[in-house]
Amino acid sequence: MAGKTIFKQIIDREAPAKIVYEDEQCLAFEDIHPAAPTHLIVIPKKEIVSVDGIEPEDEALIGHLFVAIRKIVAKLGVTGGYRVVTNCGPDSGQMVMHLHFHVLAGRKLGRLG
Ligand code: AMP
Repeated sequence: MAGKTIFKQIIDREAPAKIVYEDEQCLAFEDIHPAAPTHLIVIPKKEIVSVDGIEPEDEALIGHLFVAIRKIVAKLGVTGGYRVVTNCGPDSGQMVMHLHFHVLAGRKLGRLG
């Protein structure tokens, strides 16, 4: 069986992270290689590999993550908008196999595509 992902290690406090938000279902921390002045990673504590691993039973959890994202950006005082991105599978460049949402803010973000 494969070892824990780095994000599971962060959940379990076995790897360091700059945590900005936590509740019983999710965790948010600063991306180690920020692509914008604000670059957060928001994850469920439940181990879900990607959008492809979301099951019908996870509907409420996914909604919870987006409500958490709203709370986090409000708490950080983000103005001017932000982008929420999730990579899924090899063509997207997904590197960490634990569902996560990138939250990018603090600069004008280029158009997608
Ligand atoms: P993705 O390509 O969507 O899988 O992106 C994974 C993201 O996790 C990248 O932006 C990495 O910089 C970030 N990342 C990897 N390891 C860590 C870590 N230990 N702490 C914070 N962010 C990390």
